[in-house]
Amino acid sequence: MPDRTPPPGARRPLGTGCPECDAPIDATYDRCPRCALPLRGPVATQLWHVDRALADLRAKEAELLERRGGLLARLLPMTSSRPWERPRPGSGPPRRC
Ligand SMILES: [Zn+2]
Repeated sequence: MPDRTPPPGARRPLGTGCPECDAPIDATYDRCPRCALPLRGPVATQLWHVDRALADLRAKEAELLERRGGLLARLLPMTSSRPWERPRPGSGPPRRC
């Protein structure tokens, strides 16, 4: 298992601290040194997997939000400052004076 100890003061990503109190822990701990949460056993393993899945989802969400922002930034310059020029399906051609 790779050492994922973050530098001091850095916010740990989900899944690298105690799931309850976020105290720094590593694979050598049987219990959290701060809140005594058990860190071994099938339930703790399930919790670890859930936290990993949540961290992956949050990373994916951040990626999608960044992509969304980029796409929106590409579309916004294409909006017309004259709304009557926007095509409206079913409304027919624009009226001419
Ligand atoms: Zn704890």
